[in-house]
Amino acid sequence: MSIESRFLPLLQNREEQHLYRRRPLATSPQQAAMQINGWEVINFSSNDYLGLANHPQIKQALITALQSDAISYGAGAAHLVTGHHLHHHLLEDELADWLGVERTLLFSTGYMANLAVQQALMQAGDTILADKLNHASLIDGAQLSQAEFKRYPHLDMKALERRLQNSLKNASQTLIVSDGVFSMDGDIAPLNELQQLARQYDAWLMIDDAHGIGCLGDQGRGCFEYFGCELDSNTILIGTLGKAFGCSGAFVAGSEILIETLIQFARPYVYTTAMPQLNALAIRESLKLIKTDQASRETLQRNIKQFKQSAIKIGLNLMPSDTAIQPILLHDSAKALQWSEQLKQQGFWVTAIRPPTVPTNQARLRITLSASHTEKQISALLNALQTLLNTSE
Ligand SMILES: *Cc1c(COP(=O)(O)O)cnc(C)c1O
Repeated sequence: MSIESRFLPLLQNREEQHLYRRRPLATSPQQAAMQINGWEVINFSSNDYLGLANHPQIKQALITALQSDAISYGAGAAHLVTGHHLHHHLLEDELADWLGVERTLLFSTGYMANLAVQQALMQAGDTILADKLNHASLIDGAQLSQAEFKRYPHLDMKALERRLQNSLKNASQTLIVSDGVFSMDGDIAPLNELQQLARQYDAWLMIDDAHGIGCLGDQGRGCFEYFGCELDSNTILIGTLGKAFGCSGAFVAGSEILIETLIQFARPYVYTTAMPQLNALAIRESLKLIKTDQASRETLQRNIKQFKQSAIKIGLNLMPSDTAIQPILLHDSAKALQWSEQLKQQGFWVTAIRPPTVPTNQARLRITLSASHTEKQISALLNALQTLLNTSE
């Protein structure tokens, strides 16, 4: 069978169901006002929550470093070979200090960090208990491990407890895995309850705070700070560096033993080239900004509040989210695409999220707010949404 005869019908089928995916082409820097597919738009779809992706201080740090001749672009090898450079090392220490943990470990992407932790820690006979709406990379990570994989209904702590009771009987090690902030819904996992359950049932807890780190908590340390929880030695925190940090990559944070275990046994850590050293340097600069620039976090919170209050007034179907991720539930994929298209024509880029990224009949517009949006840009978006709402009824 040819590749074409197997896949052409699948591609056609996706198109017919309004599920075909295309990559919009950005031809300006990542910032609030952008050029995407040739359209001049205000971008309400990036994860650049603090506006750091094009920050002058980070760019200047890169220019200065390059001119000094003391730093290469590429790492040249994996961390365990000769690719672990000074700026990788300093960044790991600075992240650990900031978070108040023993160690952190850098990865090139959050996807890889999520593969690595579950593959390295969980063995045959163990159980992974995952929230039903966890990010795809967490699901793939569970599959890469030899452990049994069970899901519990979204945020349902009672259901999680029943599964914990079951796996306790089987005497296997259990790992609870959850997004901190859920990427398509914007709601936050009840970390204090998760931690309490993990302790009670002798389970480990892994939290992927891709959308919380940098944003949540007074200091931006993410959902642990937000709930006033401490990372204990059986807790694993993942943070990504391509969202609020505005760069790319991820880190795992936790105990000395956890990090050494990953260095020894995590295949997605061992068998891959280290991220460019220049990226580590950019992240170090970004961390400095996140530590000192309280004002950006406050602006982000103000923008979220402005959006929610006006959206509720208009009668938009918001979801229970207080974070920068504000989905508008439209259910129907064709309708989500149509709204997205009409917003684009009015100068706003808002991505339609469709199955299989979200469950069937849960298509939505996923609006993400950033500290880089102005009050005026947000009210203009709401005006456009109001018009759509009135004309679609
Ligand atoms: C984006 C995201 C990831 C993947 O991180 P990358 O660095 O983009 O690979 C993992 N988990 C969640 C919850 C995410 O939103």
